[in-house]
Amino acid sequence: MNNLLCLMFHSIDKDNLAHRYAIAEHLFDEFVKNIKKKSYYSIDTRDLNNNIDNAAIHLSFDDGAVSDLEIASKILLKHKLKATFFVTTSYIGTPGYMTWGQVQELKQKGFDIQSHSHSHKLLATLSKKEIVQDLKMAKNMIEQKLGSPVEALSLPGGSINRKVLEAALQTGHKYIFTSVPKLNIFSQGNVFHRILIKQNTKVDNLKKILVMDERYLKKEQNKYYIRKAIKAIITPKIYHYFWKKYYKDKVNN
Ligand SMILES: [Zn+2]
Repeated sequence: MNNLLCLMFHSIDKDNLAHRYAIAEHLFDEFVKNIKKKSYYSIDTRDLNNNIDNAAIHLSFDDGAVSDLEIASKILLKHKLKATFFVTTSYIGTPGYMTWGQVQELKQKGFDIQSHSHSHKLLATLSKKEIVQDLKMAKNMIEQKLGSPVEALSLPGGSINRKVLEAALQTGHKYIFTSVPKLNIFSQGNVFHRILIKQNTKVDNLKKILVMDERYLKKEQNKYYIRKAIKAIITPKIYHYFWKKYYKDKVNN
């Protein structure tokens, strides 16, 4: 039984940290150096069919921010690390996000491009038919534009239920990535949990994550479930509205 550590990032900023999930470039560089120090080798979703051992790490970037190409890819290449970029197709070409040309450039650099849905709506709030439509649209667009298969899906806002899982599998996604901060027992199915690295993640915290410190991870899980409970109380739609408003406003500044 192997543990696979999956880390989840969003945008990386040079100086002004507009989005609460954005991390500073120097900090990202520091994180990457620590990952290398631990002798991890990185995999992307195209390696998931192969044998994976404890030394593997999966790095992913959600949403498709322009910093994926302009900052993240450069630092990753410098340190010879692979990564998966999950793009939201309706965001492509809008302010703060990559254009299709830039997504293609990222692919040409060897990176793995997969789906983060079309609309970024919380999928569990939609009907099965709507989920299927949304996921199909994103998958088809990426496959047509890039000419490479989309087999992995990162769930917007980590929103998941049985309907979402069924729709994801039905539309040809083999691997589903959540936002639950847990380790993955690799032999258990095709759902992968990811630990969110955000603005207030300190290098010391990352070091704890990299040694899979159980106490730290448990604390992160508790925080995640509390946030989820709050979301459930105020209804996911309202939560998402505020989250998106905050996010868009900041990114567009
Ligand atoms: Zn997202």
